[in-house]
Amino acid sequence: MTRPDAPDLPNAPRPSASIRVDVLTLFPRIFEGPLRESLLGRAIERGLVDVGIHDIREHTHDKHRQVDDYAFGGGPGMVMKPDPIFEAVEALGEGPKRIVLLSPAGRRLDQDLVRDLAHEPWLVLICGRYEGVDERVAAGLPAEEISIGDFVLAGGEVAALVLLEAVTRLVPGVVGNEESLSSESFESSTLDSPHYTRPRDFRGMSVPDELLSGDHALIQQWRHRAATEKTRRNRPDLLPPEQRGSQGPR
Ligand code: SAM
Repeated sequence: MTRPDAPDLPNAPRPSASIRVDVLTLFPRIFEGPLRESLLGRAIERGLVDVGIHDIREHTHDKHRQVDDYAFGGGPGMVMKPDPIFEAVEALGEGPKRIVLLSPAGRRLDQDLVRDLAHEPWLVLICGRYEGVDERVAAGLPAEEISIGDFVLAGGEVAALVLLEAVTRLVPGVVGNEESLSSESFESSTLDSPHYTRPRDFRGMSVPDELLSGDHALIQQWRHRAATEKTRRNRPDLLPPEQRGSQGPR
């Protein structure tokens, strides 16, 4: 796989990676820092995830390299043209791609969808800008629209990074202690239980005795109870109705 449009990004070919992700964007440089640092940077470095960043503008053919145009029917703002996006996808080559268009009007991303995406061998993430993307991209490629939440960002790049990081954490070998994944929030009907580290006493707040007891069964019981309480307080909607109790002020 070649990455002609962003050779300085950490996206050298990784034939053994268990997932390939190609991102199509008008702002490739937004990805430079996040793809070099921390979990994502290490996963790419170790060849566990193969990420390619592609500039949609490279797939224009006019003098001004135009990627957007006025909206038919009028209205404010510009709309991203379909043709450079179709060409950018086609330039990736044949293969079983799952194509995602980041969009506030899409299906909302949650951990079930993240798990589902993490099983794919190849994801293509299309980042919109301006008023959005010509509807024929979603309909014609086709591309499934995914939103990272009920709010509007200026562009799809940060949303693509959110999705990419969530998916990458589930790729085998990326998170050192895979046991920690199974107790996380959204893996069951409760959120993760609270965590504590040293010091034992901090500004008048102490670590619960149960966690210091060394009694594994007691610790498990405490974690289960604390996770349920926290879920009731912060996200009662995740609990079965009979466990929700009174929600109190939020
Ligand atoms: N006019 C669009 C609307 O109201 O639905 C908003 C366009 S937004 C300013 C520009 C781009 O940012 C979108 O095409 C999309 O790629 C991205 N974007 C904004 N909010 C997002 C969200 N919550 N989830 C995913 N992508 C988002």
